[in-house]
Amino acid sequence: MTIINSLLSMTLDVILFAGLVGLISGSFVNVLAYRLPLMIQYRWINTTKTELKDTSDLDGSGNAYLKKLSLHLPRSHCQACKNPIKAWENIPIVSYIFLNGKCSKCSSSIPKQYPIVELTSSALAVFIGIRYSISFQFLIVLFFSLALLTLTIIDIKHLILPDELTMSLVWFGLLVSLTDFGFGTSPSESILGATLGYLSLWIFYWTFRIITKKEGLGFGDLKFLAGLGAWLGWQSLLPIITLASLSGAVFGTLSRGKWHKEAPNPIPFGPFLAAAGLLMAFWGSEVILFYIEILNR
Ligand SMILES: [Zn+2]
Repeated sequence: MTIINSLLSMTLDVILFAGLVGLISGSFVNVLAYRLPLMIQYRWINTTKTELKDTSDLDGSGNAYLKKLSLHLPRSHCQACKNPIKAWENIPIVSYIFLNGKCSKCSSSIPKQYPIVELTSSALAVFIGIRYSISFQFLIVLFFSLALLTLTIIDIKHLILPDELTMSLVWFGLLVSLTDFGFGTSPSESILGATLGYLSLWIFYWTFRIITKKEGLGFGDLKFLAGLGAWLGWQSLLPIITLASLSGAVFGTLSRGKWHKEAPNPIPFGPFLAAAGLLMAFWGSEVILFYIEILNR
């Protein structure tokens, strides 16, 4: 009885601690997902202007804002009125509830994305905490999962997968394979995973492009799969590609049926890669066994 009790209280500690870490890192995910694309956009505008030797004023009101934007500056502010958010208004979830989802100054609504992302991060952190207990591995696996979450949000909103995140996944995944803190991927599995991940989609990209004269994927997808390969090993590549393409195809068919042919927006592939990556990270062996079972029928 005492063993069960102490186990229970241990789990409760883990849940509370991991949940809190998840909420805090979730608000950082929000910052990253909002600011990184804007910073890239500004850099891109600036480079093209320089290349075109365009000397027109870059510091219109919008650009002045972009110019000053970095991950930590200016302080968090309302996206509508740019009013700085006070510390007590910046507490994950709690503030959203107290502010009733509205900016305290201009009362425009705070995007629901914020609390949703905070809650998702928190749920992920609790799951990882229970699975790996609170350890260094918890932090490493949480970093991996939240990078996937951030890439998902950015790809849905902007149809890009920033190098800052995908390449960090690649390098960090290779490095982690030298330690025991990842998913048990050995260095050789990791190197093969990163290389074959990039190469397989690169072949797919060019085949698709030559046949259909269209771009089916972005290069971000290639780097993202390389990153997943670095963390999860080459063995997980085929299941990831299969799962991501199948779910992407199903989603594409369903959403096209629903909204007919208006606005043929390309469907971001990143979210499906991320979902398949998480599935393989946590239930990889189960998925592979299921695979083999199907093949043997
Ligand atoms: Zn406001």
